Amino acid sequence: MTTAPLPLLVPSYVHDEWWPPSDDAELADVLDACTGEVVARTSSDGVDVAGAVDFARTVGQRELGRLTIHERALLLKQLAQYLMERKDELYAISYATGATKADSWVDIEGGIGVLFTMSSKGRRELPNSQVVLDGPTEVMSKDGSFIGTHVYTRLPGVAVQINAFNFPVWGMLEKFAPAFVAGVPTLVKPAPQTGYVAAECVRLMTESGLLPTGSIQLVSGHGHGLLDHLDYRDLVAFTGSARTANTLRQHPNVVHGGVRFASEADSLNAAILGPDAVAGTPERDAFVRSVVTEMTTKAGQKCTSIRRVLVPENQIDEVIAAIAERLESRTVVGDPRDEGVTMGALVSVEQKQAVHDAVQRLIDAGGEIVIGSAQDERSGALMDPVLLRFDDADTEAVHTVEAFGPVASILPYRDLDDAIRLAAKGLGSLVATVCTNDPEVAATLVQGIGAHHGRVLVLNRDDARTSTGHGSPMPQLIHGGPGRAGGSEELGGVRSIKHHMQRTALQGSPGMVTAVTGVWHTGAPQRLAGDPEFGGSPHELHPFRKSLAELRIGDGYASPLRMVTLGDIEAFAHETGDTFYAHMDEEAAAANPFFPGRVAHGYLLVSWAAGLFVSPDPGPVLANYGLENLRFITPVPAGDSIRVTLTAKRITPRVTDEYGEVCWDAVIHNQHGEVVATYDVLTLVDKEQSS
Ligand code: NAP
Repeated sequence: MTTAPLPLLVPSYVHDEWWPPSDDAELADVLDACTGEVVARTSSDGVDVAGAVDFARTVGQRELGRLTIHERALLLKQLAQYLMERKDELYAISYATGATKADSWVDIEGGIGVLFTMSSKGRRELPNSQVVLDGPTEVMSKDGSFIGTHVYTRLPGVAVQINAFNFPVWGMLEKFAPAFVAGVPTLVKPAPQTGYVAAECVRLMTESGLLPTGSIQLVSGHGHGLLDHLDYRDLVAFTGSARTANTLRQHPNVVHGGVRFASEADSLNAAILGPDAVAGTPERDAFVRSVVTEMTTKAGQKCTSIRRVLVPENQIDEVIAAIAERLESRTVVGDPRDEGVTMGALVSVEQKQAVHDAVQRLIDAGGEIVIGSAQDERSGALMDPVLLRFDDADTEAVHTVEAFGPVASILPYRDLDDAIRLAAKGLGSLVATVCTNDPEVAATLVQGIGAHHGRVLVLNRDDARTSTGHGSPMPQLIHGGPGRAGGSEELGGVRSIKHHMQRTALQGSPGMVTAVTGVWHTGAPQRLAGDPEFGGSPHELHPFRKSLAELRIGDGYASPLRMVTLGDIEAFAHETGDTFYAHMDEEAAAANPFFPGRVAHGYLLVSWAAGLFVSPDPGPVLANYGLENLRFITPVPAGDSIRVTLTAKRITPRVTDEYGEVCWDAVIHNQHGEVVATYDVLTLVDKEQSS
């Protein structure tokens, strides 16, 4: 196994320049977790943090603001590809942190994976603009001339990350990605123990040449005083211990200055074995596998690791034996550079001492070691896994003391209510796993513990092999957790991008709201082709004849009326097989509270509407790829007529393709002007080709 030569002096990166610690800086040595060699020296002495914050707010904001959400998201994908090609440089130096290759895979490729996910979510779920609409429109005047809605715009400050030591790459990239897509510059402060890996990743990111100036800056070394320069424009995303989180949360700039502060802190996560999951069942096996994986991956230095193993009281001996057997047969503790090693070292001898101290506190509180030893039997920062047994599951320490290493405690529970009560004694956790194949047990446990957790994983025989596991927060889903876990749930999916934006209520006329948001709102000006009786003009080009470059929000088409006869309804019923009584049986239909008698099928009306608004010849409209928000409002009996108005509501050019998406507002009216149905039609339209 090769180890790259490490940069001994870990630089900071501010104002678009690398700043190695100055000659007179007080340097902290970082040691290889296994060999004890000095691998890096760090110091943030003299780093111009105030200048970095100013640079982010001015240059970073300006440069990121030149791009739309989709353009930034696409850059993120290119950055992910660039890092993926150079990931070996990060693997090579990560061994010194004590991480095995599998641990680093979670950190490095997991981190790069977040970039891919956020890139794709940003482009698929957000508009290609700077303003994001939130929620429905509220009509606030009788005539519809005054409406209200909510919009997100990016925060005008800097996203400061303060990270824990355990995942120097993933921990940084999972926060950088949403900030970048939102258009907010990042200032990252990794933990000094592993900050050299984060610094190397930042070096690759800047060398890629993909990132606009000021997108990312780095403070290597200690972060004390970092919050002194922030105000309400900025946000802090902290990951680390509950103790540090509580200190930072009380900073005057957070308490009085409006700095947005989110924290993900330590957590005493539980795994609950369902009463049905007895020895021999796939669920019991999945449970034991999860416990062992969580004790040994990253040497248990994961905020999501299982710390409390809750087992029905009559199964506790059997489960301890199974965990011991699996640990024995699967775990090889040692230098992660050595062949066959499955569990590496803790990050430092100081961290190992902290874990031993925590184990001692658990023993003093009544815990009995049933696997491993309280003694320091390994050299350096290596440590064997430890399982403690508490016969009194109410022992306070087991619910409050986090041993941030390969340590878990097993506790008996009496019944499901007891299991729920014990899980909640963690006072808010990141994640719990429930192993059961009984749907009632799953429902009872999830309802009972849900509000105490950021995430709950239910494992049974169907997903045990395909599950991403207890310890892996996924970029699509929220993580964080309530209470002790930090109180946050801002990361995960598009909500993490919106977390870097301000939500503002926007009130005004439909025309103004359309102009501001780039999304057409009912009541805003339209340019309709089609039937003059219904607002169309014979001089306007049918909107399906316009390329994406020519089409404007508000362009549309007004169709003429078309009458629905009983014959049409019957033909449609027989053709499709939909002979539901509301369409076929006058007496039964009239007895239904919603219908005057036999009425046309809703799908008949939507199909006819397509025939009424279509411009059939080949042209820029390439495909219809769906409908959204379809509502049938007024029934249409035989003898009524319908017409449709189609208006371009949202136009989204795709950055990577020769076409884009057009969402059309569709409204079907009857001959009295009553609204019959409303929906959105989704089409793909060529960027250039018109006809
Ligand atoms: P930590 O001691 O709380 O440090 C976390 C980060 O805060 C480090 O970068 C640290 O660097 C910085 N920091 C400490 N005091 C600061 C201050 N006054 N101003 C600015 N920055 C400050 O935690 P750790 O030992 O690195 O990580 C282990 C803990 O993190 C465990 O308890 C674990 O459960 C938790 N954790 C939680 C999550 C999660 O997502 N919930 C994830 C990973 C880890 P400096 O001290 O050098 O400034």
